[in-house]
Amino acid sequence: MTDSHAHLDACAEPDAVVARAQAAGVSRIVTIGTGIDSCRRALEIAESHEGVAAALGIDPHRAATAEASRVGELRALLAHRKVVAVGETGLDGHHGAETLREQRVLLDEHLALAASLGLPVVIHSRAASAATAAALEPFRGTVILHCFSEPELLEPALERGYYVSFAGNVTYPSAAELRASAAHVPGDRILVETDTPYLAPQPVRGRPNEPMNVRHTLDALADARGDEPEALEALIDANATAAFGLADA
Ligand SMILES: [Zn+2]
Repeated sequence: MTDSHAHLDACAEPDAVVARAQAAGVSRIVTIGTGIDSCRRALEIAESHEGVAAALGIDPHRAATAEASRVGELRALLAHRKVVAVGETGLDGHHGAETLREQRVLLDEHLALAASLGLPVVIHSRAASAATAAALEPFRGTVILHCFSEPELLEPALERGYYVSFAGNVTYPSAAELRASAAHVPGDRILVETDTPYLAPQPVRGRPNEPMNVRHTLDALADARGDEPEALEALIDANATAAFGLADA
């Protein structure tokens, strides 16, 4: 299985977390850097584990901090052989409505980097669906919408061929609308992720999340879609290979 979005640098013991994932059959993980130091750490973790690749960005929550002025430092880091995407980047009107202007500037800088390097972009969008759709409109590369949480963004996303990645929140009892969205994503555009160490799925909710828990989210997606879990797992693995240009598991 493939966990398309984890923050292994935010785990206390990333090596143990990767080992547990591999023992559970989660052989590929995309770890996400969220700031310059976090990106360096993500690369170190990716270097030491064959099945771990990295996406690098400065996340929107840092858009109004000094960190955002270091976006130029990303270009050199993105040349690393284990990098598969730019991000996460995006817009968050829930945690940061007052910095949306700065977030948009930072998002545009990431989109320019992704376009010039020919890399996919990993997008965080929360309580900002219309602004996110507008910002992404001119971008012609591959888009992965991580931790999908905005059903109203589904139609433009599918029209434009974006990948839609679901996290543990789709397993929560209150998430019926999100599960309905998951049922509408074509089989060649759906991804699954943990967002480790956040958003642990319902059966392990309240604990630090780990990539091995991606199974619970995949099962919830299969149930919502009426798919066999094994068949959906195969589809999602193929989608992760295509979206990120990953090596085979
Ligand atoms: Zn994330």
